[in-house]
Amino acid sequence: MNSARVVVIGGGVVGVSTLYHLAKLGWSDVVLIERKELTSGSTWHAAGLLPLFNLSYSVGKIHQYSVDFYPTLEAETELNVGFSRVSNIRLAKTQDRMDEYHYYAGVAKTIGVDVDFLTPDEVKEIWPLCETHDIIGAIRHPDDGYIQPADLTQALAKGARQCGAKIHRNTTVTGITQKANGEWVVSTDKGDITCEHVVSCTGNFARQTGRMVGLDIPVIPVEHQYFVTDQHPLIMERRAKGLPEMGVLRESDSSWYMREEAGGLLLGPYEVGAPACYVDGPAANSEYELFPDDLDRLMPHIETAIDRVPAFGEVGVKKVYNGAIAYTPDGSPIVGPAWDRKNFWLNEGHSFGITAAGGAGWQLAHWIVDGEPTIDMMGVDPRRFGEYADEGYLIEKNEEAYAKVFTVHYPDEEREAARGLRRTPCYDRMKDLGAVFGNVFGWERPNWFAPHGYELSDSDLDRPDVLLNHNHPHVEGESIREKWSFRRSNYFEHVGNEVKHVTSKVGIQDMSPFAKCRIAGPGAAEWLGELLTNFVPKTIGRLCLSYLLTKEGGVRSEFTIYKTGPQEFYLVSAGAYERHDHDYLKKAMPTDGSVTFERLTTAMGVLVLAGPRARDVLAKVTRADLSNEGFPWLTGQKISIGTAPVDALRVNFIGELGWEIHHPIEMQNYIFDKLMEAGAEFDIKPFGIRAMTLMAMEKSYKLIPRELSIEYSAHESGLDRFISKKKEHFHGRERLLERQAAGLSNTLVTMEVMDVTDADARGSEAIYLGEELVGRVTSGGFGWRVGKSLALAMVRPELAEVGTELEIAILGKRHKAVIIPDSPFDPENEALRA
Ligand SMILES: Cc1cc2nc3c(=O)[nH]c(=O)nc-3n(C[C@H](O)[C@H](O)[C@H](O)COP(=O)(O)OP(=O)(O)OC[C@H]3O[C@@H](n4cnc5c(N)ncnc54)[C@H](O)[C@@H]3O)c2cc1C
Repeated sequence: MNSARVVVIGGGVVGVSTLYHLAKLGWSDVVLIERKELTSGSTWHAAGLLPLFNLSYSVGKIHQYSVDFYPTLEAETELNVGFSRVSNIRLAKTQDRMDEYHYYAGVAKTIGVDVDFLTPDEVKEIWPLCETHDIIGAIRHPDDGYIQPADLTQALAKGARQCGAKIHRNTTVTGITQKANGEWVVSTDKGDITCEHVVSCTGNFARQTGRMVGLDIPVIPVEHQYFVTDQHPLIMERRAKGLPEMGVLRESDSSWYMREEAGGLLLGPYEVGAPACYVDGPAANSEYELFPDDLDRLMPHIETAIDRVPAFGEVGVKKVYNGAIAYTPDGSPIVGPAWDRKNFWLNEGHSFGITAAGGAGWQLAHWIVDGEPTIDMMGVDPRRFGEYADEGYLIEKNEEAYAKVFTVHYPDEEREAARGLRRTPCYDRMKDLGAVFGNVFGWERPNWFAPHGYELSDSDLDRPDVLLNHNHPHVEGESIREKWSFRRSNYFEHVGNEVKHVTSKVGIQDMSPFAKCRIAGPGAAEWLGELLTNFVPKTIGRLCLSYLLTKEGGVRSEFTIYKTGPQEFYLVSAGAYERHDHDYLKKAMPTDGSVTFERLTTAMGVLVLAGPRARDVLAKVTRADLSNEGFPWLTGQKISIGTAPVDALRVNFIGELGWEIHHPIEMQNYIFDKLMEAGAEFDIKPFGIRAMTLMAMEKSYKLIPRELSIEYSAHESGLDRFISKKKEHFHGRERLLERQAAGLSNTLVTMEVMDVTDADARGSEAIYLGEELVGRVTSGGFGWRVGKSLALAMVRPELAEVGTELEIAILGKRHKAVIIPDSPFDPENEALRA
């Protein structure tokens, strides 16, 4: 065992599935190293449930693949994986929960997952032991069920071996180094293996493995318990009569799952207060390890379970399992390339690893073998967290992610843990002006501004009598100013007022979390030209938008490129994707030193000044010529604001006259005060991200990973004018043109949604022509400047004509939606050019 093409570290279900899928794609020279026995980490004690329910597109697709794939293993390997397709019911006790289910039904429909709605009576028919008097409805996944995790792993291992893969058990990886030629050397207690790629699938050991290559992997496990009761006569009776299993039951509002197990019942709650564990990693001899049980912590959940299924309270506890479940700050796994390391891959952080293993192995194998996954993996990309996600952050956030597995996943929820970590200098000023903050990539960023003294009263806040009563932030000592919802919530009007103000007067916004970097050197222009779709600005001060495509012509990243010197460019991209975008740039850079990369994200702040009076405000604090001739749209200049040197870029994401002011971060408050002072006579006011997003939608501007995704070609996303026709090369060009010539499958359109009273589209809703699914919404909301409920959507090209009438299902109700011309607000860009 001294060389292989790929070394997979870790013999849990995730590692073995990765090995299987690599071998299936024809890479048979692959080796898996497991320190003990297969499944001896977390896999052996999992409850084996395969929940399809997930609001993340990436995770939903991954789970769906697994549920379709696992049953096929038996025919291939002659090993039974113990898949019981008993279906899965999720109960709803509140209207918000029903809204969540209706919203989810749209995601499921567009992914292709079957889900149906049940009345309380229908629940009772399937689950006669369940009390249904206080539920208002439920959803059911008919294809969902549970599996035997160890049997599944063994079947995957056999399938992999049948394709030539090798598995070495009782072998520990002790070190990993990369040679100058890029090859990896994986050292084990039984010798070294040289390989092209390394895949880390080490479960609770993820951070220890990461340390071997200098990576701080954002995974820390949390304790999770489930327990099994003695047999119950009623269940035994059902069995004797040959009645079907009642299936998996989830009471979301009380945060637990339940299913039959060997004639008894199995209950698994997700409680508040479950501690992070293995913070320094498991011990060297850890194997089949469980922690002492702590049922006291679960008591509130046990009580609700007894209320729901009285039979559950009538039998004793037979066995408790308290094991480590790997977690990440947002609860989704980490699947994809490691940042800053070539050919080092991560398949870690799985909290639903039995469910996800199939799909995660499948996509990661494609990524390694073909260079790309086949589905949009942004929701699980390892680079969605940054270096801020260190130990302390992970403990807080991962415990929170665990406790919130079953909370209603509101689209506007802003979680409370680990807040206030990254603040821009003007944070306190914005706070004083009423900012209600959201969080992106660890940064605090104003979402909207509440009027002075505004707060919600107790009667404003729904307090349904359920365990998971969480539709507004819980911040000690702070007044509550927002309520989360799938519908228009209390901040709706206030955001509208911000839009109206910016569009009639002038507004200021803090966009400092933008990812920023400097690309410089004699080869910089040529390299950017070879890599990105658009032309590279030739004149100092010119700006353009340009895109990094995948090999298949899908959209990976969006950059604003601003030429700042003869051989120097300043690149700006989405704050949430800093590590992702910068990693692609750094890995694609020539190695001859002709191009350099410098990260500027935390060195530079960004204030946006926008609205018809923006020029008047800026003119009071700078000597620069701000006229259209002196400072045209889509250009940038180094100017002084008072005594502060800044780069002012005449662009913005809201479609109004305005400038993005990029400045040394330590001068932010000086500049902020200058602008506020100068703007006072024009009634300058701050505005937040929510107003910005709605204004961007009125301009049909596109966002990653909504309208722009690796699954849609850049032409499908309507980026034609940012794709240079003159250039003979940029990354992904060949397939992009081939796909265009073959005929596209989708067209991005703007729609007006009719008869909306309190729930606009949010993105992910299904679009119908009659009963036929013909597209999906990518973004939605109310356009305050045009006075219409709007949606951006991908539809079949033959239905993309302006005037076409389709239907969008919003929270279970069909709305007529008409395709309208793009950029319903100011299609001629008169405001921007004013
Ligand atoms: C009580 C409980 C119930 C659960 N129920 C469910 C459920 O119903 N459904 C579901 O989907 N998920 C469930 N889970 C989660 C599930 O168990 C995990 O997500 C899954 O097992 C993760 O698999 P893995 O392969 O990533 O990790 P593991 O199974 O932990 O495998 C990692 C392996 O890597 C090996 N390794 C680590 N370091 C090295 C090294 N240096 N050299 C060699 N080998 C190394 C370890 O020995 C280990 O075997 C549950 C978890 C718990 C705790």
